[in-house]
Amino acid sequence: MEQDDSIWKRHQLRPTPCRRMVMECLDTSGRAMSEREIRLAVGEEFDRTTLYRNMISLEENGFIHRIVVAQGVVKYAANPDNQPAQRHAHFFCKHCGNVWCLRQAQTFKVEIPLGFQVEEEEIVVRGLCRACQEA
Ligand SMILES: [Zn+2]
Ligand SMILES: [Zn+2]
Repeated sequence: MEQDDSIWKRHQLRPTPCRRMVMECLDTSGRAMSEREIRLAVGEEFDRTTLYRNMISLEENGFIHRIVVAQGVVKYAANPDNQPAQRHAHFFCKHCGNVWCLRQAQTFKVEIPLGFQVEEEEIVVRGLCRACQEA
C-alpha cells in the first residue's frame, strides 16, 4: 500500500523505512498486533531497539495506538487517517489472543466517582472470534 507522504509531513515525522513498514504491516493486518508480531512481520532488517523506538514515535505522533489487553499483553493498531484514535472499545479473543478495534463502540458511558481523575481508559470485550468459534 502506497502511503501519502503529506501525512508524514503534516506530523513532521520522517517516514523512515522502519516506520513505513510498521504502518504497512498494521494497515494490512486488519487487527491489532503485538510488538513481537510486528517484529516477525517486518523481519530481521531492524533490530529490536530501532523497531521499538520507531513504534514509540509513531504512537506519540498519533499514527498508532496502544491497547493494554491484560498485564503484560500490549497490542498496537493503526489509527484511521493517522489521526489520534477516537475513543473505542476492543475485542479480545480468548482462544487465539487476537485483538480487534471496535470502532463503532464509542457510546459506552463510565461513571467516575467525584474527585477522581482518569488517566487511561481501556474497554476490552472478551470472547471468541468468528474463526475460533468455527474451529
Ligand atoms: Zn480467535
Ligand atoms: Zn483500537
